Amino acid sequence: MSSTENECVDVVIVGAGHAGCEAALACARLNMKTIMFTVSMDSVALMPCNPNVGGTSKGHLVRELDALGGEMGKNIDKAYIQSKMLNVSKGPAVHSLRAQADKQDYTREMRKVLENTYNLTLRQGEIVDILTENNKITGVKTYTGTIYNCKAVVLATGTYLKARCICGDVSKNTGPNGLSAANYLTDALKRLGIEMYRFKTGTPARIDKRSIDFSKMEEQFGDEKLVPFSFTNKPEDIAKEQVSCWLTYTNEETHKIIRDNIHRSPLYSGNIKGVGPRYCPSIEDKVVRFADKDRHQVFIEPEGNYTNEMYIGGMSSSLPEDVQFKMYRSVAGLENAKIVRNAYAIEYDCINALQLKPSLEFKKIEGLFSAGQFNGSSGYEEAAAQGLIAGINAAMKISGREPLILDRSQAYIGVLIDDLVTKETHEPYRMMTSRAEYRLLLRQDNADLRLTKIGHEIGLIDDERYNKLLEKEKAINEEIERLNNTFVGASSNIQEFCKKNNTTELKKSCSLAELIRRPELSYELISEIDKDRKELDSDVIEQVNINIKYDGYIKRQMSQVEQYKKMENKKIPEDIDYEKVGSLRLEAKQKLTAIRPQSIGQASRISGVSPADISVLLVYLSMKH
Ligand SMILES: Cc1cc2nc3c(=O)[nH]c(=O)nc-3n(C[C@H](O)[C@H](O)[C@H](O)COP(=O)(O)OP(=O)(O)OC[C@H]3O[C@@H](n4cnc5c(N)ncnc54)[C@H](O)[C@@H]3O)c2cc1C
Repeated sequence: MSSTENECVDVVIVGAGHAGCEAALACARLNMKTIMFTVSMDSVALMPCNPNVGGTSKGHLVRELDALGGEMGKNIDKAYIQSKMLNVSKGPAVHSLRAQADKQDYTREMRKVLENTYNLTLRQGEIVDILTENNKITGVKTYTGTIYNCKAVVLATGTYLKARCICGDVSKNTGPNGLSAANYLTDALKRLGIEMYRFKTGTPARIDKRSIDFSKMEEQFGDEKLVPFSFTNKPEDIAKEQVSCWLTYTNEETHKIIRDNIHRSPLYSGNIKGVGPRYCPSIEDKVVRFADKDRHQVFIEPEGNYTNEMYIGGMSSSLPEDVQFKMYRSVAGLENAKIVRNAYAIEYDCINALQLKPSLEFKKIEGLFSAGQFNGSSGYEEAAAQGLIAGINAAMKISGREPLILDRSQAYIGVLIDDLVTKETHEPYRMMTSRAEYRLLLRQDNADLRLTKIGHEIGLIDDERYNKLLEKEKAINEEIERLNNTFVGASSNIQEFCKKNNTTELKKSCSLAELIRRPELSYELISEIDKDRKELDSDVIEQVNINIKYDGYIKRQMSQVEQYKKMENKKIPEDIDYEKVGSLRLEAKQKLTAIRPQSIGQASRISGVSPADISVLLVYLSMKH
C-alpha cells in the first residue's frame, strides 16, 4: 500500500545529524520548502561520541561554517561547558578552538532553532527508497509507504545505514546509543548503481563521575580569555562558569590486559569487517601499533552539567565487557570505575565519495546530494561543513544558480571536499591541518574575512553582518597602512623602549610595522611609543598583528596560490573521452574516466595520474581549442 503525500516540497533531507541539520537550515533559509527526516527525533544533532566541538583543524571548519552562515558555531557557543584555544604556543596557522559541550543542551538548542525555522518541517520516519526518472530525482519513499515528491534530496545518514554495534563477540543491529538502524536505503542506493563502502568507528565507555578519584589526575581548565566560535558573538556574550576536564594515562598493566585479550577483540577476531579511522584509533589498536609506548593519554571529559556520565577520551574500544572493566580499572583514578555505558564499535554503510562532484551532487543522479559520515568522513565538524555545502548547492540547483565550490586555497571546507571527491579514501576521513597546503592563509581567526562575503552573496549572511565585516576589513587595512607609514627615529625614548623590551636599538628610523615584525615586539607592546593609535576591537588587533608579523610568509603562500589557481582554472570539458588522449597511460585513462575531474588542478591530485599524464592532457586540450 503506498500513498502520495499531496504536498510537494523542494528539498528532502535524509538525516538530522550534524550534516542534516546544516543542510536543512541552509535550504530553508534560502527559501526552499524543506522537510528533514530522521529515524528518531532523539538523534537530532546527537553527539554519540566525544562531547566536544572543534580541536585542531576541526575548529577551523566550524569557524568557516559560521562565516558562511551555518549554525554549529552559534550552537556550541550556547551549549559549551569549557572552551580552550589549542596550540597557542605554536604559530597562528594551527591555533584551534575546542569547546566541551553539554550534549543535552547542544541537541536542545539545535532543535529549538530547527523547529522554529520557517520553510522547515521535521519528520520522524525512515526513508527506504530514492525515486528517480531518467537519472533525475523525483522523490523519496518512507518505511510506511508514503511518497514525498521533491526536486532535490540530501543524504546525510551518518552511522545508521545497516548499522551494527559490536562489543566483544556480542553485536546488535542498532544505530548509536541503541537507536534503531536504517536497514533499507543501502539496497535502494545499490539499485541506483551507487557504490557503497562498509566503515567502522568506535567510542569509549562512559563512567559514573562519583566512582572516579580525580586526585590521581591532572585537572585541565578552560581559558579565562574566551574566543567564541561564532563571529556573531563577543566573548562577553557567551561568558559562563566553566567545568574542568582531567588527564590520566594508561600504564603497563592496562596494556597487558589488552594484549592478553587481543584474541577476543572483534577487531582482531574478524568479527568487525568495517574499516576504522587511522587517526582515531581504538585503545587496542594503539597498544598494538605503538607497542613501544609505555602509556597513552586518557582525557576524562564531562558529558554535561545534567549528568554524572564522564567520557573516557582516548580509550575507545570494542573489547568484551569483562575486559573493559579490568582495562578501565587499571587506569590511575579509575580503580573503582562504575561503567554506565560500555565502549563499543559501530559498523555502517557509506559511499565511495569519488562518485560525487565538488558540489556534492552525485554524478549519476541529478538532484541527489550527500554529506557527512555517509560521504566517508568522520567527525561532527566534517559532517556539518559538508551538510552546509550540500544544502546550499541543492538550493542553488533548484534556483538555477551556480553551485558553491570552495577550492583548497579558500577554505578547509574546500580541502575536505576536494580530498573526498578526488582522492580515494578507504577509511573514515578526518580533517588535519597537515592536509591544507595553504594553512597559513586558512587560519581559524580570519575565516570571516575569507568567507562571509561569499555567504552574503549566496543569501545566508544578512546585510547587517556583511556591513560589519566590511567595517572590520576596512579597520584592519587602514591600521596596517598607518603602521607601515608611521615612522619613529632613534630618539632616546625609543632607545629606552627598545632596551626595556630586549630588542635591538634603532640605528635609523623605521616604521612601526617593522617594529611589530620583531619577534620580541607586538602591536600591543608598541602602544607605548605609538601615540596616534585609535581604540580598536581585539579581533581587528589580532588581524593587524598576524598580517604584519607573518607578512613575508603570507605573501609567499599567496604566490603559491596563484600557481595553484592557474591549474584550477584550466577546466576540462565534461564530455572529454580520455580513450582519445593518445599517450595517456592506461591507469590514468581509467582513473580520469572514473572520476571525471573538472579541472587540470583536480586531475593532478588524483592518485595514479602522474605529472607526465597532466602534461599530455594539457597538450591535448590546447590542440582541441
Ligand atoms: C559509536 C560512535 C563513535 C564515533 N566515534 C567518533 C570518533 O571517534 N571521532 C569522530 O570524529 N567521530 C566519531 N563518530 C562520528 C560522529 O558521530 C559522526 O561523525 C557525526 O555524528 C556524523 O554526523 P552525520 O550528520 O553525518 O551523521 P549522524 O550524526 O550519524 O546522523 C545521521 C542521521 O541520519 C538519520 N538517518 C539515517 N538513515 C536514515 C534513513 N534511512 N531515513 C531517515 N533518517 C535516517 C539518523 O536518524 C540521524 O538523524 C562516532 C560515531 C559513533 C556512532
